[in-house]
Amino acid sequence: MNELKQIKGIGPKTVEKLKNAGIQTTEDLLLRFPLRYETHAFNTFEEIALETELTLSVKVTKAPKIFLIRKNLDKLSVEVEINQMFFHVHIFNRRFLSNALKSGTEIVITGRFIKNLSNFTASNIVLLKNFRPGIQPIYGIEDINDKTLNKAIRSLLEHDPDLTETIPSDLLQKHQIPHINDLIVKIHLPEQEEDILQSRKRIIYEELLDFALRIESLKKLNQNILTKKKQYDINLVRGFIATLPFELTEDQKQATNEIFMDLKNDHQMNRLLQGDVGSGKTIVSVIASLAVVTAGFQVAIMAPTLVLAKQHYEAFKQYLEPYEIRIGLLVSELSNSERGNIIDDIRTNRIKIIIGTHSLIQEDVDFHNLGFLVIDEQHRFGVAQRKELRRKGATPDILLMSATPIPRTLAISIYKDIDVSFIKEKPSGRKEIKTKIIEYERLNDVLKSVKNQLIQGHQAYIICPKIEESDVSNKVSVEEMADIIQNTLGKEFEYGVLHGKMTDYEKNQILTQFYSNQTKILISTTVVEVGVNVKNATCMVILNADTFGLAQLHQLRGRIGRDMHQSFCYLIVDDLSLAKERLSILEQTTDGFLISEYDLSLRGPGEVFGRVQSGIPTFKMANLIKDEEILQAALVDAAVIVSRNDERSVRLTKKAIKAIESYHLD
Ligand code: ADP
Ligand code: MG
Repeated sequence: MNELKQIKGIGPKTVEKLKNAGIQTTEDLLLRFPLRYETHAFNTFEEIALETELTLSVKVTKAPKIFLIRKNLDKLSVEVEINQMFFHVHIFNRRFLSNALKSGTEIVITGRFIKNLSNFTASNIVLLKNFRPGIQPIYGIEDINDKTLNKAIRSLLEHDPDLTETIPSDLLQKHQIPHINDLIVKIHLPEQEEDILQSRKRIIYEELLDFALRIESLKKLNQNILTKKKQYDINLVRGFIATLPFELTEDQKQATNEIFMDLKNDHQMNRLLQGDVGSGKTIVSVIASLAVVTAGFQVAIMAPTLVLAKQHYEAFKQYLEPYEIRIGLLVSELSNSERGNIIDDIRTNRIKIIIGTHSLIQEDVDFHNLGFLVIDEQHRFGVAQRKELRRKGATPDILLMSATPIPRTLAISIYKDIDVSFIKEKPSGRKEIKTKIIEYERLNDVLKSVKNQLIQGHQAYIICPKIEESDVSNKVSVEEMADIIQNTLGKEFEYGVLHGKMTDYEKNQILTQFYSNQTKILISTTVVEVGVNVKNATCMVILNADTFGLAQLHQLRGRIGRDMHQSFCYLIVDDLSLAKERLSILEQTTDGFLISEYDLSLRGPGEVFGRVQSGIPTFKMANLIKDEEILQAALVDAAVIVSRNDERSVRLTKKAIKAIESYHLD
């Protein structure tokens, strides 16, 4: 039996919905694991405390009130009672509950008391009669409720399904993890926490073994690629470093040394330079580029956006001016003849350093002898692109620069055959950015503080999660914010609006106005995230901050605090109690490594770095930070499997290689 429609109690409509969710067979259904579990139990009256999550059974004592906070955001407040203790419960966007919450109704609330015991901010409210105690699996499949799924799965499990085991049995034993047929019972119908723990352990191991197999197979496939040694002029490079207006930090020196070691030998450099925003990666790439040019090779610098390419172009030109090195900028704005000239000059080796966007290494651009390729801000650059370069006869040393710090073990497992350099310490003399999480209801106060900064001649960013009012989500749009600013700060200060739907030309215009201090406020989506450098900007207001990842917020915030001035970042959220726990690390530190580690442990790397960009598979459960130990064990096991010749091991290895290839082809 493997057709869905054979399951008792499942009609054609549900079958259709399951298929839409990617579940075609009964086996698929058994292997669709719950996203999470809810343990439904009440806290007792004695357990009531501030700031801890509580589930309480209470009685409504007065009909609720609705407050409109802004379009698409309302707050319901209702008075309740437990053991003669009366308090108010607040919840966002649940107007529809207001009729059900008559005085005398018994309800179950989940949430926290924030400042005192008279106000409770709830994340969920259900009627007591709908409350089901025990461990409930939550599947989160669109349009299908968990009860229906649970019934279907229960009836399937009554027939003792026999699934194929993929993990070699010696490994199951070694790690004491349940067989697949045990797993599906424990995971769908857990009777106790221990069942969930065991299931989790197995799934995490299986996912990480899969991942480890890919790494081990890739290592086997990728023999070392040779390139030409770069015999650079060390005295000239030393002279250059001596003329810099600042002394390199220890970390910058160390990274530079590591890069130079790579340049000197004949193995292709494949190095990731990691450092927080503003840690000074650019100058390291300038030094290395100069060295490569003195060795007689060309250099290409690839930036993710036009704005950044231009910024790099200006920086390189300024730094290297005394050396009479031709530097070119290749971007989409050029006329055909300009472009033609530049491409000509690259081919004939008149241009030594070429800076541009992704298209640099593609299409009709041929290098005379490309020796060094710098890729800024974690571009996706994999085996396929390296192959493409080799096809053109180039095996440049490659330096990737990333501002999203990743712990070393993780970086190595993600980038596989890559070396990693770190810049951890920041140039001295910078002030910490003061960061505060604030509720939307207090937006006006925030705008007053911003005004203060503007009056002192500084500039401000306002970041919104979306562009227009079009969709139904209750996030604040750039349009909406522009209206608000127009009626407030906009009366005295010029502002510009920026978002991803604009053409490159329009974006460039808006940014230029902000760079040149013509506009004082920039209202924008996250397009300003990468690399934009306006030192006079000291304020950032981020709307719906809780909808962004921590690493991303840290990146955004990196646009300010770029000078000696005190900078301020305001994280605006609808509901302080829900956002506070996750975001408060941003109030406490500006150390990108700490923040990214924390973010990684919460969400996992696939989410943090974006799946496409990083090439990290998304795991159902595994988390490369939290489950590092299991990953290490899986790596050991994978190395053994890859070297074995029995049928199951060979099958596993083949599957891994296929996965790598399809990834690099997409
Ligand atoms: P990143 O690319 O890592 O975000 P940048 O290279 O843009 O950072 O550097 C940020 C700023 O710090 C630049 O204005 C740069 O001139 C300056 N800077 C870099 N290294 C140092 C240093 N060792 N001491 C002082 N200032 C530095
Ligand atoms: Mg940079």
